[in-house]
Amino acid sequence: MSTFQAPKGTYDLLPPDSAAFLAVREAIAAPARRAGYGYVETPGFEHVELFARGVGESTDIVTKEMYAFSTKGGTELALRPEGTASVLRAALQANLHKAGNLPVKLWYSGSYYRYERPQAGRYRHFSQVGAEAIGAEDPVLDAELVILAVDAYRSLGLRDFRLLLNSLGDKECRPVYRAALQDFLRGLDLDDDTRKRIEINPLRVLDDKREAVQRQLADAPLIVDHLCEACKDYHEQVRELLTAAGVAYEDDPRLVRGLDYYTRTTFEFVHDALGSQSAVGGGGRYDGLSEMIGGPSLPSVGWALGVDRTVLALRAEGVELDLPAATDVYAVPLGEQARRTLFALVTELRRAGVAADFAFGGKGIKNAMKSADRSGARLAIVAGERDLAEGVVQVKDLASGEQGPVALAEVAETVKERLV
Ligand code: AMP
Repeated sequence: MSTFQAPKGTYDLLPPDSAAFLAVREAIAAPARRAGYGYVETPGFEHVELFARGVGESTDIVTKEMYAFSTKGGTELALRPEGTASVLRAALQANLHKAGNLPVKLWYSGSYYRYERPQAGRYRHFSQVGAEAIGAEDPVLDAELVILAVDAYRSLGLRDFRLLLNSLGDKECRPVYRAALQDFLRGLDLDDDTRKRIEINPLRVLDDKREAVQRQLADAPLIVDHLCEACKDYHEQVRELLTAAGVAYEDDPRLVRGLDYYTRTTFEFVHDALGSQSAVGGGGRYDGLSEMIGGPSLPSVGWALGVDRTVLALRAEGVELDLPAATDVYAVPLGEQARRTLFALVTELRRAGVAADFAFGGKGIKNAMKSADRSGARLAIVAGERDLAEGVVQVKDLASGEQGPVALAEVAETVKERLV
């Protein structure tokens, strides 16, 4: 073991488990790609102010959880705690919204960092795949994004997830609701921190997980009763479109989410087998964010799905992903000449698209065959001096143990046939 350990709240992705992570990332991105979302990659860090303004000065993410630092040149930066603000910043910077084809549809995949209290399913470094549609206000677009996420989960074989849906209103009705909620909250028995939160961001109080707070919130006014006609109509259309697409959802009038920029459609995917960290993904509409970070009005909607928690949810359901074999063929050379000949053969197989590996380090046959079994390969190719003198190699089926000679020139063809 090294003197060093991975920092608290982080873990390493190692084979064979890492294969599931790659497959989950791929599966989440695939429906978005098919729907015209293009890949975007932004830096792992940004100006701290982007998140302060974009995510919200009063959110836990910004006040408590951000890895912020000054560079040697005195620039204030932060490791990205989420993807939306960066992606919107990148789109604005490159003027993608001016290219004339709105919405700009983008997807991304990467590492995110939050200084949270680590626990099962909650890490300080985690992985998300996200999708954002920038510059269009259309309930069909909100529905599209939700459907893409649902289809991603379904394609993985995930079953026991639930979709929670809410509307947070817009700049017409949200302030009226906010004031009503503040009035209600000011009358409750709450600690000083929560009292401060009432003044800065009262909706977040609804999200307080403490029993003593939740008990007092039973009669809190709900946004659904304060939505303006436009928001009500918009939300109804989203709901109808989801139903028409066979997507089940639960109305959750208390769903507010931890970021300040959401307006109208807000949603979260939860998985009940995950304990307290049950959110596997979430998103919503953020019509005001572009202006908050200095851009023009660009109503937008998006989501981010957590890769780590999706993998945990799949495990909890016992779903076995259909992963491609790391190795199909394992070559075992017996002797110096065989080493060269079989290595050439392995190279040829790889170039022909076959996943092939080799017994390195001059292992004896017993050890080499053990490695072949451990590699998960279906076939082993074994050859010694006598085989080569006859112009053949032995091809062994590792499951049945059957073995027979195959002419060297025909190995690639034979192996490919036997693997289908
Ligand atoms: P959020 O931006 O907080 O809505 O996060 C979107 C998704 O990312 C969540 O639903 C989680 O699946 C995942 N996620 C957020 N924070 C963490 C974390 N600290 N550790 C693991 N996954 C996370």
